[in-house]
Amino acid sequence: MDFDVLVIGAGPGGYHAAIRAAQLGLKVACAEMDKVGGVCLNVGCIPTKALLHAGEQLAASRHAADFGLTFGETRMDISKLMGWKDGIVKKLTGGVSSLFKANKVTHLIGQASFVDANTVRVGDKTYTASSIIIATGSEPARLPGFDVDQDRVVDSTGALTITEVPERMLAIGGGVIGFEFAHVYTNLGSKVKVIEFLPNVIPGADADAVREFTKSMKKQGIEIATSTKANKLERKGNELHVEIENVQTGEKTTEVYDRVLVAVGRRPRTAGLNPEAAGVQVTDRGFITVDRQQRTNVPHIYAIGDVAGNPMLAHKAMKEGLVAAEVIAGKPAEQDAVAIPGVVYTSPELAWVGLTEAEAKEKGFQVKTGVFPLSASGRAMTLQSTDGFVKMVVEEGTDLLLGVHIVGPHASDLLGEAGLALEMAATATDIALTVHAHPTLGESVLEAAEAVHKQAIHIM
Ligand code: FAD
Repeated sequence: MDFDVLVIGAGPGGYHAAIRAAQLGLKVACAEMDKVGGVCLNVGCIPTKALLHAGEQLAASRHAADFGLTFGETRMDISKLMGWKDGIVKKLTGGVSSLFKANKVTHLIGQASFVDANTVRVGDKTYTASSIIIATGSEPARLPGFDVDQDRVVDSTGALTITEVPERMLAIGGGVIGFEFAHVYTNLGSKVKVIEFLPNVIPGADADAVREFTKSMKKQGIEIATSTKANKLERKGNELHVEIENVQTGEKTTEVYDRVLVAVGRRPRTAGLNPEAAGVQVTDRGFITVDRQQRTNVPHIYAIGDVAGNPMLAHKAMKEGLVAAEVIAGKPAEQDAVAIPGVVYTSPELAWVGLTEAEAKEKGFQVKTGVFPLSASGRAMTLQSTDGFVKMVVEEGTDLLLGVHIVGPHASDLLGEAGLALEMAATATDIALTVHAHPTLGESVLEAAEAVHKQAIHIM
């Protein structure tokens, strides 16, 4: 065999798998047909966060007058903003290439396609490997009638390139991606509407947290229409005329926009991979089914990340990559999806880990909750960011933590404590007994734990 492990795809899942396998002494290659870093580094997690940060700075400069700071007229140099964002991406993807070199991972350039269960063609060469990890990721789902030209009608990749700030923008899809871009464009000065087919936005998040989150998004000027779908699009010069339908009442209206973002989900990517040649089964929806050790139906072939199923998140891909590499190296690893965080990186952020209150009840738990509003947090006040709360979902009787849901500034970072608590099977009392620094947002997590026992100090 040419390699012990051949990884297909160098996104967050693939590059984590390749590096960990090499760290464990295996001879590793990683094939990539585009840029290392995958969707996350190139057109996903990282560039969106750069734009979100820039938008938030603009918004913050507008609100600074509230505490007595006024600046001159704010000006935006869009090409500089794009260059800054692209520079971060370049630095990080360059870092992955350096990590490959440092760990002696052979980087194969080209599209990989299975020849048989141990042979993969990359470009015009074939390679054999004892174990193969499929990490081919996902791509944006399409919406019939809304042809993406990456100019006026864009998907998440096109939305990252801004040459001018559109006056009116429609985001089709009220999921994480739809809201992150809605927030960016709103802060940059667009009037944005988000439409969602389902009765609620951010599917999968706790209902109370979503209510709090949408209240804040609306307050910041984002229009939100749920139970609403986009039927068709007509281009009239530079204008995009979109027919929108309320699916409950059947009422249709035509609205005019300058840019339309299609953010209706993502689909797994196996095109050109030829998994059939290796006997790897793919579901009707294009996912590759795996067991808790990331094994496909062919025992020496593994799948990780977006192509292996939901949730389509970088940290889930990374974790699965580490598990697959460790299993191949003979370690007793497996994936246990108890605490995979979900985050919407808007301002305030919406972040959660573990079970929602509704999920916990559906699973038969007797549930009690504790909620601490950020309006009672001194630290949140000093940050001028008091929208939101920390909600803790706990099992009655055992006091075991089941889930934590946070709307607020830095919610994604606050979630680290909750994730560890869940992984360690901590109780609300464990968190309440832990001394948290003052004044911090972390104290709100402590007070939510105290609120479970009706003992929060700062709630009347
Ligand atoms: P990918 O990142 O999709 O990488 C797969 C790689 O495989 C690609 O580089 C592709 O070129 C390559 N490839 C595919 N087929 C072949 C082949 N046959 N041969 C060779 N190479 C191939 N997740 C988060 O956790 N946090 C976020 O903040 C976040 N923000 C996001 C924002 C946006 C706008 C988007 C679109 C996504 C975001 N995500 C976020 C999701 C995250 O990007 C994905 O979950 C993650 O990239 C999946 O990693 P992966 O390794 O499975 O696949």
